[in-house]
Amino acid sequence: MPDRYAVFGNPVAHSQSPWIHARFAEQTGQDLIYEREEVPLDGFVKAVKRFFGSGGRGLNITVPFKEQAWHAVDQRSSRAEHAGAVNTIALLDGGELFGDNTDGVGLLRDLQNHGVAVTGARILILGAGGAVRGILDPLAGKAPASITLANRTPSRADALLPLCGNVPASAHGFDDLRDMAPFDLVINGTSIGLSGHMPPLPDGILHAESSAYDLVYGSRETPFMRWSRKQGAGQVLDGLGMLVEQAAESFLLWRGVRPETAAVIKGLRERLQ
Ligand code: NAP
Repeated sequence: MPDRYAVFGNPVAHSQSPWIHARFAEQTGQDLIYEREEVPLDGFVKAVKRFFGSGGRGLNITVPFKEQAWHAVDQRSSRAEHAGAVNTIALLDGGELFGDNTDGVGLLRDLQNHGVAVTGARILILGAGGAVRGILDPLAGKAPASITLANRTPSRADALLPLCGNVPASAHGFDDLRDMAPFDLVINGTSIGLSGHMPPLPDGILHAESSAYDLVYGSRETPFMRWSRKQGAGQVLDGLGMLVEQAAESFLLWRGVRPETAAVIKGLRERLQ
C-alpha cells in the first residue's frame, strides 16, 4: 500500500498540491498517493484525527486552517513556532504529530531562484494575514535593511512587528506609503488580487531596480503585477515558484529526499496556461 498524504483546506478544489507532489513522487521514485480534501469549517480537528487514525502519513494545510493546525499538533519546528501557523504536518514514529511551516523558506528559495537579494534590501510587505506571518521571520533572518508592513487594518500589521526580530521595522496603513522612498522589494501578501483588485498604493514606491512579488499566482498576471510593471519595477514575479518550493520542503520533511523544483515550476506554469 502506498503511503497516504493530502492537502486540507476550504475551499481546496483549486489546489495544485496533488499535481505537484505527484511530480515529486515520480521524479524521486517514492510510492505515495496525495489527495485533496475540503474540510468543513467547523470540523478541522476531527478530520485530522480521522486522517492519521486511518493510516495517513502527512498533511499540507491551507486557508483557513493554518492557525488551527498550529494548535492541533504535538510538536512544532521553530519556524512554525514563530509563525503561529502550520502548513505541513508529519506523523512521527511514536505517533505524535509534528507541525512545520514551509511558506517562508519556499519564498526565500524562489527569490533566490530569481536572483532577488534580501540581505540589505528595503522591503515593503503588503498585508498582515497568515501568509505574511509565515514569511516574516525567515525574511528577517536574512538581515534586510528594513521591513515596512502596510495593511488595510494597521493594528494587524502592528501585531506582527515582533516577528521582525532585530530588523528595523514599522507598521502602517496604505496611506502612509505616500511619503516614503522607493523600496527594493515589495511583496504583496494580501488576498485582494484573488478578486481582481489590488491594494490602494501610491506612485513612487518602486524604482527601476525594484522587485515586485505577488504571493498570489494564476493563469494570468495579477492586478498588483500589472501595476508594478507600469510603475517600472525591474522584476515582477508571482507566487507560483514559492508554491512549488514550499511543497518541496514539505516533501523533504515527509520523505527525507529533496525533489528538483525547476522542471516542476515550468510544468505547473504550462499547466495553468
Ligand atoms: P488571510 O490570512 O486571509 O489575510 C488576507 C490579507 O489580505 C489581510 O492582510 C487582509 O487585510 C488583506 N485583504 C483582504 N482583502 C482586502 C481588501 N479588499 N483590501 C485590502 N486588503 C485586503 O490570507 P493569507 O493566508 O495571508 O493569504 C494571503 C494570500 O497569499 C492568499 O491570496 C494566498 O493564496 C497567498 N498565499 C500564497 C502562497 C504561495 O505559496 N504562493 C502561500 C501562502 C499564501 P485585513 O487584515 O485588513 O483584513
